Amino acid sequence: MPTTILKTMKAHRQCVHFGCEERAVATLTYNYAEATAVLGPLPPEKAPYTSEFCEHHANTFTAPNGWQVIRLAFSTEPPEPTEADISALAEAVKEAGRKARIGLPRDPWRTQLSVKTYE
Ligand SMILES: [Zn+2]
Repeated sequence: MPTTILKTMKAHRQCVHFGCEERAVATLTYNYAEATAVLGPLPPEKAPYTSEFCEHHANTFTAPNGWQVIRLAFSTEPPEPTEADISALAEAVKEAGRKARIGLPRDPWRTQLSVKTYE
């Protein structure tokens, strides 16, 4: 494949929706621990474990049953997100994660293993 085509493909990030060839304008991040999906602005580089959607599929996205969706403002213009956009997304994901960590129970097995018996 010629280099020019590879470069073009890289610059144009496509919607992940099956069969859709539109340009991606929003990124979706799942926080499994909190059952929360965060839809927000596209970062300059695709982040791991995220999905990217075009405007239509971002707006029509629905989360699985029992999940909540946090929708942040995103631009439909070609991406060039500001520092504020990125930190807003990072904050929303972090906030969901923070709530999840507080609810984690202590591991009862670990406690039992630390008890030693001597004959
Ligand atoms: Zn799409």
